[in-house]
Parts: sequence; C-alpha cells; structure tokens
Amino acid sequence: MSSIKTLNPTTNQVEREFDEMSDQQIEIIISNADTAFKTWRKTSFPERTRLLQNVANILRTRKDELGKLCSIEMGKLHCEAVGEVELCADIFDYYANNGKQFLSDAPLETPQGKAFLTYEPIGVLLSVQPWNFPFYQITRSAAPNIMAGNTIVLKHASNVPQSAEIMEKIFTEAGAPKGVYTNLFVPGSKVSKLISDPKIKGVSLTGSEEAGSSFASMAGKYVKKSTLELGGSDAFIVLEDADLDEAVKTAAFGRLWNAGQVCISPKRILVMESVADKFIEKAKSIYENIIVGDPLDSKTQLAPLCSEKALQKVIKQVETTIQQGAKLILGGKRVERIGAFMYPTILTDIKKGMLAYSDEIFGPVLCIYAVKNIDEAIKIANDTDFGLGGTVFGTDIDKAVEVARQIDTGMVYINHVTGIAPELPFGGTKKSGYGREQSPAGIYEFVNEKLIRITTSKDSY
Ligand code: NAP
Repeated sequence: MSSIKTLNPTTNQVEREFDEMSDQQIEIIISNADTAFKTWRKTSFPERTRLLQNVANILRTRKDELGKLCSIEMGKLHCEAVGEVELCADIFDYYANNGKQFLSDAPLETPQGKAFLTYEPIGVLLSVQPWNFPFYQITRSAAPNIMAGNTIVLKHASNVPQSAEIMEKIFTEAGAPKGVYTNLFVPGSKVSKLISDPKIKGVSLTGSEEAGSSFASMAGKYVKKSTLELGGSDAFIVLEDADLDEAVKTAAFGRLWNAGQVCISPKRILVMESVADKFIEKAKSIYENIIVGDPLDSKTQLAPLCSEKALQKVIKQVETTIQQGAKLILGGKRVERIGAFMYPTILTDIKKGMLAYSDEIFGPVLCIYAVKNIDEAIKIANDTDFGLGGTVFGTDIDKAVEVARQIDTGMVYINHVTGIAPELPFGGTKKSGYGREQSPAGIYEFVNEKLIRITTSKDSY
C-alpha cells in the first residue's frame, strides 16, 4: 500500500491513494525541469509576471474548492483554508508586481571603475514541503523562485497529495511551460537520493528538525545551496501594562489557529505573576466554550488534527508533562467521536526539564507560565533551541519594542501573534532553520548575485 494518500482526519477514511513514482519517472521529471530551465531563464519579466498573475487569478476563482480540499486532506477549518488560498494569490501577485524591480541590476559604489550586481537563476530547485498549509507552503517557495527564472520540482507531504496534484494543474492551466513546476510523488525517505541528482542546483525544506538535519547534511555533502524552515516554540510575552482581555483572546485563539499545528503558533505564554491567575481564568472560559467539530461546518472553531498519529503524539506529550508535575487546567484528551479531535487544552506550572518546556507541541495546547518580571520572561523566551517567531503584548510600544529586541528569533510581532504577509520576511534562527521566504529577501535565496566590474583605463587594478 502506498504511503501517499488522502486520509481524511475527520472521518478516518482513505479518500484517494497515489502510486509512488518510479526512479525512471523521477528522472524524466527532473530532466524536463532542467530542459525547461534553459528556456525559462531567458523569458522576459512580463512573461513571468503573466504566469504568476494567472496562477493568482485561478487561486482566487477556485478558493472555495481548494479550501475544501485542505479540510478533507488535513482537517483545516474551511474559513482558514479559504484565507490561506487568498494569501497564496497575494504572494503570487506580490512577486509578479515586484519581481522585475527586485531582480534588476544593482549598481555598486566603488572608487575603481564601475560595478554592479546582476541576479541570475541557478537551475532546478527541489522544494520539500509539509502538510500544515497545503497551498501556502508551496507558494512561498514557488512564487519567488519561478519569478527569478528557476524551475521547481515539488515534493509535498505524503498526506496532501491532491493539493500537490492540483497545484501542478493550476500552473499548467496558467500557461507554465512543461517542466517549470512539477510535482513528485515520493515519500520523505527517498528525498536524499533526489538531492544527489546533479541537475538539482538548490534545495529547500520546511518541516521538522529531524528531516531538516538529514536534508541539510545531504545538501552539504553535494555542496548545494539550501534553506531550512523548521519548527518553532514562539513565546508570547504579556507585559504588565497589556490590555489583558485582548492579550488572552489573541493568545487563546492564536493557539487554536490550524488546530495549533502552526510553526509560529504562540506555544509558550509568559504572563506576569500578578495577573497570571486572571489570565488563566479568562483563557479557561474561552476554551470551555470552543465548538470542536467538522472543519466544513461554519460553526466549528476547532477542527481535528491532521491525523490519528499526530493526535496521539500531542496527547502523549501533555500526559508526560503532567506526570512530570505540570497542572492540567482543561482538556488534555481526545473527543469521543470518530476522527483526530482533541479538546482545547491548558497547561500551567511548567518547569525547565519537563517535556512541554523544551519540545514543540503541534496541537491545541496553551502552555501558560507565570513569571516574576520581564527579565525572567525574556530568559524563558530565549531558553529554547528554536528561534522562529514571538510576540510581545503591551500598551507602551517603545517598551514592547525594547523587549522584542531581546528575543532571539527571526520575527517578533507586537500585539499580534507571529503573522504572515507577502511583503514581510519569514524565517528563523537557531534550530528553526536558516534562510528567508517572502519579502524581497525571499527572491535572492536561489539566485547567483553576480558581480560585474568594468575597468576603465585610469583604474589601477
Ligand atoms: P516532516 O515530517 O519533517 O515532513 C515535512 C516534509 O519533509 C514532508 O514532505 C516529508 O515527507 C519530508 N520528509 C520527511 N522526512 C524526511 C527526510 N528524512 N528527508 C527529507 N524530507 C523528509 O514535518 P511534519 O512533522 O510533517 O511537519 C511539521 C513540522 O514542520 C513542525 O515542526 C513545524 O513547526 C514545521 N513547520 C515549519 C514551518 C516554518 O516555516 N518554519 C512551517 C510549517 C511547518 P513525507 O510526508 O513523505 O514524510
């Protein structure tokens, strides 16, 4: 039986199965991508712009259908899924509208002659993506890189094959020449071999630390440029002057976004001791009234996790942390019905050495820490291997920014959970990976920033 299939986490039914591609099929796809690169790299900016705009338009037109597919494949709330597809369209438009400007020659100041940077695509890129945002994850690597003149072979997560398949069809419908964007149906275990293919010139992976580490070591072995977007354990620091109701609402609902399966979810809430009890009480009253159910039902606020395996892992993490001495305020168990449903959960009294202190929990679990002061909040916020995002909540914005500067992550949002926008860079530090996606930065990861220097007769070198 193939591991590449849609297993609906709401019904636990297999909806569709796909055959793994053979080595020969993979070779043909990579060769086609390489052939396509030779032509695509020479296309004009208006031609690339047109392709990206066409993709954006198709996404917007089909957002309900694509959103429904996300709900079926990995359990996302329909409204969140539609929002995801709209965001993808915005990202395609962003690079369509700005790509030419980002990639135009950039003059350099030099006392000797003249010099400029020119941005050249490097070839076929392998993009390995996770299931938690089936369309957004593909988009943020495909849009800038195709605009830059590279071609993409995509290896999507094995549990969202229909999303992977449909994206390739959308590119074709939008007018992409054969080989510019192609899907590969292969399991994660076969990715290493793909990296070794000499036609693959750059590789990027979004996913877990384990996958990222093995992926990057192969990229190192074959000396290929790589980027990694890995896990996160975002701190959400509530300063003393914060509007407590707003802070509780933002943290509590932020943590339920995508059933807590978001790399930038507020995974550790750090609240001053003086207001911690009030914060916990308010969070509890929100979570007690959350409607858990079918992602396609518009009344549902919390949909299932992506799979039974994912659900069991989160429940085990919660149980272990409780056994280690943490306090369960609410939830901590599955909902008694078919499907990978979990009640919203609140844990407190978490100390260093407990599992929830150090591990990423990829589910609807709000971990609240009471801290003595800002220094302790910053210390705990930084006491993690991860360095992806974070939040500081407070009314004195200067103070909040001062705290934000001391958080060791790639992104910090003031008065908002870590967010996403086409024009803002996304990426982390420490074990959350390296490289940036979105924003101008996202288009330079896989281009050769080539220096051209023109010597004039009076130059001395
Ligand atoms: P995962 O197991 O690492 O899977 C991610 C992708 O990598 C899938 O396509 C998977 O394929 C593939 N893969 C698995 N093992 C591999 C290996 N040894 N070598 C190469 N590729 C491999 O991740 P996940 O648990 O599904 O996803 C959740 C993780 O992703 C969380 O840690 C989350 O924080 C992180 N994430 C990070 C970001 C970010 O931007 N920083 C965004 C979203 C998610 P198969 O499906 O075939 O196994």
